[in-house]
Amino acid sequence: MSETIHYPVLEIDLQKLENNAEKVTAYAGERGIEITGVIKGCNSIVEAGKAMLKGGCSGLATSRMDQMKRIREALPGVETWLLRIPMLSEIEELIRCSTISLNSEETTIRAIEAACASAGLQHGVILMADLGDLREGFRDFEAMAALAEEIEFEMPHVTLEGIGTNLGCYGSISPTTENLTELVELARAIEARIGRPLRYVSGGATTTLPLLLKGGVPEGINHLRVGEGILNGRDLMVFWNTPFPGVVADAFTLKAQVVEVKEKPSYPIGEIFVDAFGEVPVYHDEGIRIRAIAAVGKQDVGSHEKLLVRDEGLRLIGSSSDHLILDVTDMKVRPQVGDVLSFDLYYPAMLYATGSASVEKVLLNSEAL
Ligand SMILES: *Cc1c(COP(=O)(O)O)cnc(C)c1O
Repeated sequence: MSETIHYPVLEIDLQKLENNAEKVTAYAGERGIEITGVIKGCNSIVEAGKAMLKGGCSGLATSRMDQMKRIREALPGVETWLLRIPMLSEIEELIRCSTISLNSEETTIRAIEAACASAGLQHGVILMADLGDLREGFRDFEAMAALAEEIEFEMPHVTLEGIGTNLGCYGSISPTTENLTELVELARAIEARIGRPLRYVSGGATTTLPLLLKGGVPEGINHLRVGEGILNGRDLMVFWNTPFPGVVADAFTLKAQVVEVKEKPSYPIGEIFVDAFGEVPVYHDEGIRIRAIAAVGKQDVGSHEKLLVRDEGLRLIGSSSDHLILDVTDMKVRPQVGDVLSFDLYYPAMLYATGSASVEKVLLNSEAL
Protein backbone atom coordinates (compact mmCIF):
# COMPACT_ATOMS: atom_id res chain seq x y z
CA MET A 1 0.00 0.00 0.00
CA SER A 2 1.30 3.43 -0.86
CA GLU A 3 1.74 6.11 1.76
CA THR A 4 -1.30 8.33 2.37
CA ILE A 5 -0.94 11.80 0.93
CA HIS A 6 -2.60 14.44 3.08
CA TYR A 7 -4.26 16.98 0.81
CA PRO A 8 -4.24 19.89 0.37
CA VAL A 9 -0.62 19.77 -0.66
CA LEU A 10 1.62 22.71 -1.40
CA GLU A 11 4.51 21.75 -3.65
CA ILE A 12 7.55 23.97 -3.52
CA ASP A 13 10.05 23.57 -6.32
CA LEU A 14 13.39 24.56 -4.81
CA GLN A 15 15.16 24.39 -8.16
CA LYS A 16 12.80 27.05 -9.50
CA LEU A 17 13.37 29.23 -6.45
CA GLU A 18 17.12 28.93 -6.90
CA ASN A 19 16.74 29.80 -10.57
CA ASN A 20 14.64 32.86 -9.73
CA ALA A 21 17.12 34.04 -7.12
CA GLU A 22 19.95 33.50 -9.58
CA LYS A 23 18.25 35.61 -12.28
CA VAL A 24 17.51 38.50 -9.90
CA THR A 25 20.88 38.51 -8.10
CA ALA A 26 22.86 38.26 -11.35
CA TYR A 27 20.99 41.16 -12.98
CA ALA A 28 21.21 43.31 -9.86
CA GLY A 29 24.83 42.32 -9.23
CA GLU A 30 25.87 43.63 -12.62
CA ARG A 31 24.46 46.97 -11.51
CA GLY A 32 26.24 47.02 -8.17
CA ILE A 33 23.22 45.90 -6.16
CA GLU A 34 23.29 43.17 -3.53
CA ILE A 35 20.11 41.19 -2.77
CA THR A 36 18.94 39.96 0.61
CA GLY A 37 16.39 37.16 0.11
CA VAL A 38 13.12 37.74 1.97
CA ILE A 39 11.35 34.53 3.00
CA LYS A 40 8.46 35.80 5.16
CA GLY A 41 6.10 35.18 2.19
CA CYS A 42 6.63 31.42 2.55
CA ASN A 43 6.65 31.21 6.35
CA SER A 44 10.47 31.23 6.19
CA ILE A 45 10.73 27.61 5.12
CA VAL A 46 14.44 27.04 5.66
CA GLU A 47 14.93 25.13 2.40
CA ALA A 48 13.50 28.08 0.47
CA GLY A 49 16.10 30.22 2.20
CA LYS A 50 18.84 27.77 1.23
CA ALA A 51 17.66 27.92 -2.39
CA MET A 52 17.85 31.72 -2.31
CA LEU A 53 21.36 31.65 -0.85
CA LYS A 54 22.45 29.12 -3.47
CA GLY A 55 20.96 31.44 -6.09
CA GLY A 56 23.19 34.29 -4.92
CA CYS A 57 21.34 36.16 -2.17
CA SER A 58 23.81 37.56 0.35
CA GLY A 59 21.59 37.00 3.40
CA LEU A 60 18.05 36.16 4.49
CA ALA A 61 15.31 38.33 5.92
CA THR A 62 11.94 37.98 7.56
CA SER A 63 9.57 40.19 9.49
CA ARG A 64 8.85 37.88 12.43
CA MET A 65 11.00 36.75 15.33
CA ASP A 66 9.68 33.17 15.52
CA GLN A 67 10.73 32.69 11.88
CA MET A 68 14.01 34.49 12.51
CA LYS A 69 14.86 32.03 15.30
CA ARG A 70 14.28 29.10 12.97
CA ILE A 71 16.53 30.61 10.31
CA ARG A 72 19.30 31.32 12.82
CA GLU A 73 19.15 27.80 14.25
CA ALA A 74 19.23 26.11 10.85
CA LEU A 75 21.73 28.46 9.19
CA PRO A 76 23.87 29.95 11.95
CA GLY A 77 26.47 31.58 9.71
CA VAL A 78 24.07 33.49 7.48
CA GLU A 79 23.54 37.27 7.69
CA THR A 80 19.95 37.75 8.85
CA TRP A 81 17.77 40.85 8.67
CA LEU A 82 14.67 41.57 10.74
CA LEU A 83 12.44 43.66 8.48
CA ARG A 84 9.67 44.76 10.82
CA ILE A 85 11.03 47.42 13.12
CA PRO A 86 11.59 45.57 16.40
CA MET A 87 9.29 45.54 19.43
CA LEU A 88 10.90 46.54 22.71
CA SER A 89 9.76 43.18 24.09
CA GLU A 90 11.82 41.21 21.56
CA ILE A 91 15.22 42.96 21.82
CA GLU A 92 16.88 40.10 23.73
CA GLU A 93 15.93 37.65 20.97
CA LEU A 94 16.73 40.15 18.26
CA ILE A 95 20.38 40.57 19.20
CA ARG A 96 20.85 36.80 19.38
CA CYS A 97 19.01 35.77 16.21
CA SER A 98 19.42 38.64 13.81
CA THR A 99 22.54 40.28 12.43
CA ILE A 100 20.76 43.43 11.27
CA SER A 101 17.40 45.08 11.86
CA LEU A 102 15.51 47.96 10.25
CA ASN A 103 14.87 50.75 12.73
CA SER A 104 13.23 54.14 13.10
CA GLU A 105 13.03 54.84 16.86
CA GLU A 106 15.79 56.15 19.09
CA THR A 107 14.20 54.44 22.12
CA THR A 108 14.44 51.07 20.44
CA ILE A 109 18.03 51.56 19.27
CA ARG A 110 19.05 52.65 22.78
CA ALA A 111 17.45 49.45 24.11
CA ILE A 112 19.45 47.45 21.53
CA GLU A 113 22.65 49.19 22.68
CA ALA A 114 21.91 48.43 26.33
CA ALA A 115 21.03 44.78 25.67
CA CYS A 116 24.12 44.27 23.50
CA ALA A 117 26.34 45.93 26.08
CA SER A 118 25.26 43.56 28.84
CA ALA A 119 25.36 40.49 26.58
CA GLY A 120 28.66 41.41 24.95
CA LEU A 121 27.13 41.34 21.49
CA GLN A 122 27.13 43.61 18.46
CA HIS A 123 24.06 44.42 16.32
CA GLY A 124 23.70 46.20 12.98
CA VAL A 125 20.96 48.72 12.22
CA ILE A 126 19.55 50.24 9.06
CA LEU A 127 17.82 53.59 9.67
CA MET A 128 14.65 53.86 7.65
CA ALA A 129 13.57 56.96 5.74
CA ASP A 130 9.91 57.40 4.84
CA LEU A 131 9.85 58.82 1.31
CA GLY A 132 6.08 59.10 1.13
CA ASP A 133 4.65 55.62 1.54
CA LEU A 134 3.79 56.47 5.17
CA ARG A 135 4.66 53.18 6.79
CA GLU A 136 7.87 52.99 8.85
CA GLY A 137 10.70 55.50 8.82
CA PHE A 138 11.74 59.10 9.50
CA ARG A 139 10.01 61.92 7.72
CA ASP A 140 12.33 64.33 9.50
CA PHE A 141 15.69 63.71 7.82
CA GLU A 142 17.57 66.07 10.14
CA ALA A 143 16.44 63.99 13.12
CA MET A 144 17.47 60.86 11.24
CA ALA A 145 20.98 62.19 10.53
CA ALA A 146 21.34 63.29 14.16
CA LEU A 147 20.43 59.78 15.33
CA ALA A 148 22.92 58.33 12.84
CA GLU A 149 25.65 60.44 14.47
CA GLU A 150 24.52 59.42 17.93
CA ILE A 151 24.73 55.71 16.98
CA GLU A 152 28.12 56.18 15.39
CA PHE A 153 29.74 58.08 18.24
CA GLU A 154 27.83 57.09 21.38
CA MET A 155 26.66 53.50 20.90
CA PRO A 156 29.65 51.18 20.70
CA HIS A 157 27.56 47.99 20.43
CA VAL A 158 25.33 49.17 17.61
CA THR A 159 26.79 49.42 14.11
CA LEU A 160 25.12 51.77 11.68
CA GLU A 161 25.14 49.51 8.60
CA GLY A 162 23.22 51.87 6.39
CA ILE A 163 19.93 53.50 5.55
CA GLY A 164 16.93 52.25 3.67
CA THR A 165 13.40 52.90 2.57
CA ASN A 166 10.25 50.96 1.96
CA LEU A 167 7.82 51.88 -0.81
CA GLY A 168 4.67 50.41 -2.27
CA CYS A 169 3.42 48.90 0.97
CA TYR A 170 0.92 51.17 2.73
CA GLY A 171 0.71 54.29 0.59
CA SER A 172 1.20 52.33 -2.65
CA ILE A 173 3.87 54.85 -3.66
CA SER A 174 6.06 53.67 -6.53
CA PRO A 175 9.82 53.77 -6.29
CA THR A 176 11.11 56.36 -8.76
CA THR A 177 14.47 57.76 -9.77
CA GLU A 178 13.47 60.93 -7.87
CA ASN A 179 12.55 59.39 -4.50
CA LEU A 180 15.49 56.97 -4.58
CA THR A 181 17.86 59.82 -5.45
CA GLU A 182 16.57 61.50 -2.30
CA LEU A 183 17.66 58.39 -0.36
CA VAL A 184 21.12 58.42 -1.94
CA GLU A 185 21.55 62.13 -1.12
CA LEU A 186 20.53 61.44 2.45
CA ALA A 187 23.10 58.63 2.63
CA ARG A 188 25.84 60.98 1.36
CA ALA A 189 24.84 63.62 3.94
CA ILE A 190 25.00 61.07 6.77
CA GLU A 191 28.34 59.73 5.51
CA ALA A 192 29.72 63.28 5.64
CA ARG A 193 28.62 63.61 9.25
CA ILE A 194 30.02 60.26 10.42
CA GLY A 195 33.14 60.41 8.27
CA ARG A 196 32.87 57.00 6.62
CA PRO A 197 30.88 55.27 3.89
CA LEU A 198 27.71 53.36 4.80
CA ARG A 199 27.72 49.70 3.87
CA TYR A 200 24.11 49.61 2.66
CA VAL A 201 21.84 52.05 0.88
CA SER A 202 18.79 49.81 0.64
CA GLY A 203 16.38 51.00 -2.02
CA GLY A 204 13.34 48.88 -1.29
CA ALA A 205 11.85 45.54 -2.18
CA THR A 206 10.34 43.73 -5.17
CA THR A 207 8.51 46.92 -6.14
CA THR A 208 11.89 48.46 -7.03
CA LEU A 209 12.65 45.71 -9.58
CA PRO A 210 10.56 47.24 -12.41
CA LEU A 211 12.53 50.49 -12.02
CA LEU A 212 15.76 48.49 -12.01
CA LEU A 213 14.75 46.79 -15.26
CA LYS A 214 14.08 50.22 -16.80
CA GLY A 215 17.51 51.44 -15.73
CA GLY A 216 15.98 54.02 -13.40
CA VAL A 217 17.56 53.05 -10.07
CA PRO A 218 20.09 55.81 -9.35
CA GLU A 219 23.75 55.10 -8.71
CA GLY A 220 24.39 54.80 -4.99
CA ILE A 221 21.59 52.34 -4.26
CA ASN A 222 23.55 49.17 -3.53
CA HIS A 223 21.03 46.86 -1.87
CA LEU A 224 17.46 45.56 -2.20
CA ARG A 225 15.39 43.23 0.00
CA VAL A 226 13.54 40.92 -2.38
CA GLY A 227 10.96 38.29 -1.47
CA GLU A 228 7.98 38.20 -3.78
CA GLY A 229 10.03 38.81 -6.94
CA ILE A 230 11.92 35.57 -6.31
CA LEU A 231 9.23 33.45 -4.64
CA ASN A 232 6.38 34.38 -6.91
CA GLY A 233 7.14 36.29 -10.07
CA ARG A 234 3.47 36.54 -10.93
CA ASP A 235 2.71 39.88 -9.30
CA LEU A 236 5.45 41.65 -11.22
CA MET A 237 3.83 40.34 -14.37
CA VAL A 238 0.22 41.04 -13.44
CA PHE A 239 0.42 44.30 -11.49
CA TRP A 240 3.54 45.91 -12.97
CA ASN A 241 3.42 44.40 -16.44
CA THR A 242 7.16 43.82 -16.02
CA PRO A 243 8.03 40.13 -15.91
CA PHE A 244 11.59 39.68 -14.70
CA PRO A 245 13.56 37.91 -17.45
CA GLY A 246 14.08 34.24 -16.60
CA VAL A 247 12.00 34.31 -13.40
CA VAL A 248 9.27 31.65 -13.35
CA ALA A 249 5.95 32.19 -11.56
CA ASP A 250 5.10 28.59 -10.70
CA ALA A 251 7.57 27.55 -8.02
CA PHE A 252 4.56 26.94 -5.75
CA THR A 253 1.69 24.62 -6.67
CA LEU A 254 -1.44 24.03 -4.60
CA LYS A 255 -3.02 20.59 -5.02
CA ALA A 256 -6.51 19.92 -3.73
CA GLN A 257 -8.70 16.84 -3.90
CA VAL A 258 -12.20 16.86 -5.37
CA VAL A 259 -14.86 15.74 -2.87
CA GLU A 260 -18.08 16.43 -4.79
CA VAL A 261 -19.15 16.78 -8.44
CA LYS A 262 -22.81 17.60 -9.15
CA GLU A 263 -25.13 19.46 -11.46
CA LYS A 264 -26.40 22.54 -9.66
CA PRO A 265 -28.09 25.83 -10.39
CA SER A 266 -25.60 28.70 -10.43
CA TYR A 267 -27.88 31.04 -8.48
CA PRO A 268 -28.50 30.27 -4.79
CA ILE A 269 -32.02 29.19 -3.93
CA GLY A 270 -33.89 31.06 -1.22
CA GLU A 271 -33.43 34.41 0.48
CA ILE A 272 -29.86 35.78 0.15
CA PHE A 273 -28.43 36.87 3.50
CA VAL A 274 -24.65 36.96 4.24
CA ASP A 275 -22.00 34.28 3.65
CA ALA A 276 -19.86 32.60 6.33
CA PHE A 277 -17.60 35.66 6.45
CA GLY A 278 -20.41 38.20 6.86
CA GLU A 279 -20.18 39.34 3.26
CA VAL A 280 -22.84 39.53 0.58
CA PRO A 281 -21.31 38.10 -2.60
CA VAL A 282 -22.77 38.75 -6.04
CA TYR A 283 -24.10 35.66 -7.79
CA HIS A 284 -24.64 35.34 -11.54
CA ASP A 285 -27.41 33.15 -12.86
CA GLU A 286 -25.94 31.01 -15.63
CA GLY A 287 -28.53 28.27 -15.35
CA ILE A 288 -27.63 24.72 -14.46
CA ARG A 289 -23.88 24.08 -14.34
CA ILE A 290 -21.63 21.24 -13.28
CA ARG A 291 -19.99 22.16 -10.03
CA ALA A 292 -17.11 20.55 -8.19
CA ILE A 293 -15.95 21.07 -4.64
CA ALA A 294 -12.27 20.75 -3.76
CA ALA A 295 -11.22 20.30 -0.14
CA VAL A 296 -9.31 23.51 0.49
CA GLY A 297 -10.66 26.83 1.70
CA LYS A 298 -10.20 30.34 2.93
CA GLN A 299 -8.41 29.10 6.05
CA ASP A 300 -5.69 27.68 3.80
CA VAL A 301 -5.41 30.31 1.07
CA GLY A 302 -7.23 33.45 2.22
CA SER A 303 -9.58 33.58 -0.76
CA HIS A 304 -10.27 31.73 -4.01
CA GLU A 305 -9.56 35.04 -5.74
CA LYS A 306 -5.88 34.59 -4.85
CA LEU A 307 -5.70 31.29 -6.75
CA LEU A 308 -5.35 30.71 -10.47
CA VAL A 309 -6.50 27.62 -12.33
CA ARG A 310 -4.10 25.61 -14.44
CA ASP A 311 -6.71 23.56 -16.31
CA GLU A 312 -8.47 24.89 -19.37
CA GLY A 313 -12.18 25.38 -18.83
CA LEU A 314 -11.96 25.28 -15.03
CA ARG A 315 -13.39 28.30 -13.20
CA LEU A 316 -13.05 29.42 -9.59
CA ILE A 317 -16.50 30.35 -8.31
CA GLY A 318 -16.21 30.81 -4.59
CA SER A 319 -14.89 29.57 -1.29
CA SER A 320 -15.76 29.11 2.35
CA SER A 321 -13.41 28.24 5.20
CA ASP A 322 -12.82 24.68 4.04
CA HIS A 323 -14.35 24.40 0.56
CA LEU A 324 -13.37 25.61 -2.87
CA ILE A 325 -16.27 25.80 -5.32
CA LEU A 326 -15.46 25.25 -8.98
CA ASP A 327 -17.34 25.27 -12.27
CA VAL A 328 -16.11 22.32 -14.32
CA THR A 329 -18.78 22.40 -17.05
CA ASP A 330 -16.41 23.59 -19.79
CA MET A 331 -13.52 21.28 -19.02
CA LYS A 332 -12.61 18.76 -21.72
CA VAL A 333 -12.25 16.05 -19.12
CA ARG A 334 -14.28 16.76 -16.02
CA PRO A 335 -12.77 15.75 -12.70
CA GLN A 336 -14.24 12.91 -10.65
CA VAL A 337 -14.43 12.59 -6.90
CA GLY A 338 -10.91 11.76 -5.72
CA ASP A 339 -9.12 13.56 -8.54
CA VAL A 340 -6.54 16.18 -7.63
CA LEU A 341 -6.54 19.66 -9.17
CA SER A 342 -3.52 21.96 -9.31
CA PHE A 343 -3.57 25.73 -8.85
CA ASP A 344 -1.14 28.61 -9.05
CA LEU A 345 -1.05 31.04 -6.14
CA TYR A 346 -0.79 34.78 -5.83
CA TYR A 347 1.37 36.11 -2.99
CA PRO A 348 -1.38 36.21 -0.32
CA ALA A 349 -2.43 32.61 -1.03
CA MET A 350 1.22 31.53 -0.82
CA LEU A 351 1.54 33.39 2.49
CA TYR A 352 -1.51 31.69 4.03
CA ALA A 353 -0.86 28.22 2.58
CA THR A 354 2.75 28.09 3.76
CA GLY A 355 1.65 29.20 7.22
CA SER A 356 -1.25 26.77 7.50
CA ALA A 357 -0.66 23.65 9.59
CA SER A 358 -3.30 21.77 7.59
CA VAL A 359 -1.53 22.25 4.26
CA GLU A 360 1.09 19.56 3.67
CA LYS A 361 4.32 21.02 2.26
CA VAL A 362 6.17 18.91 -0.27
CA LEU A 363 9.62 20.07 -1.31
CA LEU A 364 10.70 19.24 -4.85
CA ASN A 365 14.36 19.07 -5.94
CA SER A 366 15.76 19.44 -2.45
CA GLU A 367 18.70 17.07 -3.15
CA ALA A 368 20.66 19.79 -4.90
CA LEU A 369 20.75 22.21 -1.95
C1 LIG B 1 8.25 42.43 3.19
C2 LIG B 1 9.33 43.41 3.13
C3 LIG B 1 10.26 43.37 2.09
C4 LIG B 1 10.17 42.37 0.96
O1 LIG B 1 9.02 42.60 0.20
P1 LIG B 1 8.74 41.81 -1.16
O2 LIG B 1 7.62 42.52 -1.78
O3 LIG B 1 8.40 40.42 -0.78
O4 LIG B 1 9.98 41.86 -1.99
C5 LIG B 1 11.29 44.29 2.11
N1 LIG B 1 11.39 45.22 3.08
C6 LIG B 1 10.50 45.29 4.09
C7 LIG B 1 10.66 46.34 5.13
C8 LIG B 1 9.44 44.39 4.16
O5 LIG B 1 8.57 44.48 5.17
